[in-house]
Amino acid sequence: MYKIKLLFIFIFLLLSGLHSKDIIHTYTVSISKDLNTLYVKAHFGESDFYYLYAGSKAAARYTQNMHFIEDAYTIYKPQYEELSLNKNAAGRTLSYIFDIRSSIGRERWTSTRKVGDDVVIPVDLWLWRPLSLKENEHIEVYFDFPPGINFSSPWKRVAKNRYRIYPTPLDWPSATAFGTFVVDTVRIKNCVLSVVFMDGSYKTTQKELKEWLTGAARSVCQVYDSFPVDNVQILVFPGRPGREPVPFGMVIRGGGITVNFYIDPSRPLTEFIADWTATHELSHCLLPMTDRNDAWFSEGLATYYQYILMGRDGRLDEQQTWQRIYNGFQKGIRGSKGMTLQNTAEKMRQMRAYRYVYWSGAAIFLKADVALRKTGGAQKSLDSVLKRVRQSLLPLHRSWSGREMMETMDSLAQTRIFADMYEEHMHSDEFPVDENYWAQLGVEINDGQVTLNDKAPLAHIRKNLLKNVY
Ligand SMILES: [Zn+2]
Repeated sequence: MYKIKLLFIFIFLLLSGLHSKDIIHTYTVSISKDLNTLYVKAHFGESDFYYLYAGSKAAARYTQNMHFIEDAYTIYKPQYEELSLNKNAAGRTLSYIFDIRSSIGRERWTSTRKVGDDVVIPVDLWLWRPLSLKENEHIEVYFDFPPGINFSSPWKRVAKNRYRIYPTPLDWPSATAFGTFVVDTVRIKNCVLSVVFMDGSYKTTQKELKEWLTGAARSVCQVYDSFPVDNVQILVFPGRPGREPVPFGMVIRGGGITVNFYIDPSRPLTEFIADWTATHELSHCLLPMTDRNDAWFSEGLATYYQYILMGRDGRLDEQQTWQRIYNGFQKGIRGSKGMTLQNTAEKMRQMRAYRYVYWSGAAIFLKADVALRKTGGAQKSLDSVLKRVRQSLLPLHRSWSGREMMETMDSLAQTRIFADMYEEHMHSDEFPVDENYWAQLGVEINDGQVTLNDKAPLAHIRKNLLKNVY
């Protein structure tokens, strides 16, 4: 009797499992050994749709032999990024080829790139998918690759060689990499970082470079004792010898977070560890995507934390931290275009006003952090607000305006501090922090040199900014 009961329970569980309404579109992707061709077979779940979309207009140019395997005689020739199938794709299997070789270096903005023997292909060039997915509808990609060829994506691993794409908008840039590289996965707190060193010659060993990246990720965990997202793809591109170890880094968010680092692989490990770029880029994970014209917000936060976090983990001492932040603010002031922060941020790229916008944003976050700590002691801080942002908002699959985020942060912190900062500084052409403000924090400046005064009215808060309180 007991056994029969168990059997019923088992059957019930099995059936309820089958009744769960998840609809999965499964893409099986393989690649030729010479990395010239990608073969895609998409088996669509039971969801009605009649059109397919790629994120890029150029996708059509490199897509070949697209057909449903149930009807091999109808070949679809997409023209741009939208393709009418003239039939319901539910339950069908679509097959197509992506011509990697002819796509290399051909597009102006995002193009397939050959890096040594490896390739990096923007996802919006090769992935044709339904435009909008319902909440229970997912895209999963299974890589069926020949031995010795590897793959890397920003997607979440759900089984061996199988990944689920985060439902971000179709036109957010995203990268997949294919080649003979080894994918290093490193777990930092709750986050899996997958690190790929693209083909090239490295003087600093990959083991050392991994130490640099994991150190930077750990540094970001100081904000609230865990990493903001649960997986990140890191692609490292070795470049020519230059003046610094990491001349450029960039975060893209399509399908999940990818951080690209362009490095000078001839520099020693110590220089990588002392460099702020990785800490800055990984700090971007603390916030959702923000609008293009609101770089003061997203870049301001990463720029504020880049040195604060280096101060907390001991890479900079107290004086060095404030000296660096002071120097940054001076760069911002010198980079002013004589316009309000809002207008400068909107025209940042044309006017190359990066320094003014980044450092003005950093100054606003410094002031907000200090103001929060003034009202609520150790309990209230930018760290604690960001922890709430993570709990209630991340990962987020749409873009936010800076103003909207400031209002949201106020409601999470139950203050008006962020809204007040916004009102005070966005429509002003004056840099948000002046020497008076520095003096209150006990940062005294003589001939550009910072000395710290621990007797200043807000010196205790300044000291607390460099402490981890979880
Ligand atoms: Zn940045």
